[in-house]
Amino acid sequence: MHHFFVKPEQIEGRLVRITGPDVNHGRQVLRLKEGENLLISDGAGRDYVCAVKALEKDCITAGILREDEENRELPAAITLYQGLPKQDKMELIIQKAVELGAARIVPVATEYAVVKLDGRREEAKLKRWQAIAENGARQSKRSRIPQVGEVRTFKDALLEGGKAGLCLFAYEHEEGMAGTKRELAKVRAGQEIALFVGPEGGFSQAEVKMAREAGFAPISLGKRILRTETAGLALLSVLMLKLEMCSEGCTDGGEDGSIFR
Ligand code: SAH
Repeated sequence: MHHFFVKPEQIEGRLVRITGPDVNHGRQVLRLKEGENLLISDGAGRDYVCAVKALEKDCITAGILREDEENRELPAAITLYQGLPKQDKMELIIQKAVELGAARIVPVATEYAVVKLDGRREEAKLKRWQAIAENGARQSKRSRIPQVGEVRTFKDALLEGGKAGLCLFAYEHEEGMAGTKRELAKVRAGQEIALFVGPEGGFSQAEVKMAREAGFAPISLGKRILRTETAGLALLSVLMLKLEMCSEGCTDGGEDGSIFR
């Protein structure tokens, strides 16, 4: 079943009107036929199974058959605060983070980030990154379109991320897995989780100090140094599987609601 995102205002009663570039995509690329079923999401968490009613030049009209109750979102809202990486790596990170269920990706201008974005370049990049998130959401049949936030300073990212129920700060010089185990044991369904990953150069001493002072407990991801694009995705993968199992009630988590033991 092909998947489309529409804005809530494109849904009127039992009819959905697909407009814009999606029309051409549906007609020319997917070669949709009348009567064919589609999965249509309003981007805010509601999904509908629909049937194509009419294929016009500027509009594809579909009738809602039923609301799709199967929730395709992870039961925790994860934000990846990613130190700005070099070249096009952010694109890969966004694409994969969306597949792995992240709710939001926020680029962070850390001390050792080599890439500096000025106003105009940032605007163009953000547009491109948001489009990648949308495509990823469609491809992986998400119910919500993850948001790519504006570039934050490290300080602002800490302030914002600090409001999450849990903050996992990946620090390559942290030794041992005891801290990782302790922090992961705090993961619960229904939580907001912030993940911090440094750029290629890692976090500076000053940044790690700030993070500690803000109450974050840096964690290790093991004895190997992962590339910046690998680190966030590795953490997300672990959280994704645990949260998925938790939503099916088959984790070995503790009775206190923790999903890691
Ligand atoms: N330049 C650094 C490596 C930075 S890796 C060095 O050579 O030492 C980029 C980011 O990925 C880090 O800032 C950290 O957030 C994360 N990362 C990579 N490997 C990690 C590990 N083993 N444990 C925790 N975080 C890690």
